[in-house]
Amino acid sequence: PKVIFSGIQPTGIPHLGNYLGALRNWVDLQNASLSTSDELYFSIVGYHAITMPQQPARLRTERSDMMATLLAIGLDPHRCTIFHQDQVPEHTELAWILNCITSMGKLNRMTTWKSKLATAKNVSDTTDVDDKDLSLGLFAYPVLQAADILLYRATHVPVGEDQIQHLELSRDLADAYNRRFEKRFFPLPKHIITPTKRVLSLRDPKSKMSKSAPDANSRVLITDTPREVERKVKKAVTDAERSLRYDPVERAGVSNLLSILAALRPPTQGNTGEGEGEGEAKQDAQLWADRLNAEIEATGASSGQLLKATLTEAVVETLRPIQEELERLRKDPGYLHQMEQLGRDKAQTVARRTMSQVRKSVGLA
Ligand code: ATP
Ligand code: MG
Repeated sequence: PKVIFSGIQPTGIPHLGNYLGALRNWVDLQNASLSTSDELYFSIVGYHAITMPQQPARLRTERSDMMATLLAIGLDPHRCTIFHQDQVPEHTELAWILNCITSMGKLNRMTTWKSKLATAKNVSDTTDVDDKDLSLGLFAYPVLQAADILLYRATHVPVGEDQIQHLELSRDLADAYNRRFEKRFFPLPKHIITPTKRVLSLRDPKSKMSKSAPDANSRVLITDTPREVERKVKKAVTDAERSLRYDPVERAGVSNLLSILAALRPPTQGNTGEGEGEGEAKQDAQLWADRLNAEIEATGASSGQLLKATLTEAVVETLRPIQEELERLRKDPGYLHQMEQLGRDKAQTVARRTMSQVRKSVGLA
């Protein structure tokens, strides 16, 4: 059986990229696990969030909002272990041990680090890496992520495309640990990628949709009201061509909206959106383009307007039941607290077992 681990930072309400690239996949994996004996761990990674400056009061709210969100999208705390990373201190302990077998050179090559560095320096050329402005914690972010995964001896990690390089590092570290301290102790974790592995910013379709991007109009949050969804989708970058075509290079904005639409409403019959490859996702996006083009031909509608109206409706309909559930959960802090304790206890049992073995193998107490 698989051991599946994934995490999300409590750095704000999840957006459509998080939902389609990661969260919805978590729910699918949970539902598939009914017929297997896969173990699932989903973590809200507060220690990762503080690698960038956070306001304490705000972080506290985001933490519990994220727990509510994970339950609202359909994760079941009795079937998965849903927990706060910062309630299980073994994460930082294992991270420290892994820090000691990670070379600085390897971390320096991580692209997310390089891009944060570039943003901090406000330049695009990152060859001359200058690390004065960013924290040691941010530099070591991928090592903590490896610790998260390895602590549960996970075999599979569902993440978006931006995390593939980090996952390679996790594999390297698992392998390095196994060679040095205990053969085959940590499985080498594999990634699970969704067809919508990289949802792009609505305002700048060259970069990924992101919680921490400064422009709030660049992302649709899963808590956005129908009005907000409509407004943000209307403002999304498209083009003036008469018809639609899936072409992520020449028509990145239009293609991004088509991909989101196809992910929310698979156009082919019997297509559940599950287990399909990248090729099929492209095909689905083009099928939507064909369908809308037929309507443009027939009615003379504007391609951009029709695509945006159709997408708005699909987003609003997808979000409605999630938002209703979220509303209900927010009124019940007692239940949320109880679920936090449940998750912490389940995670801690496994984390303690791993760490006592690790300490022994490394030669510590
Ligand atoms: P931040 O900007 O604070 O890093 P984020 O939007 O990148 O926020 P994370 O909490 O870092 O969100 O990532 C949670 C999960 O969502 C990860 O599995 C990540 O790969 C996935 N993810 C993030 N952005 C996208 C995106 N635009 N498309 C697909 N998946 C995404
Ligand atoms: Mg991120």
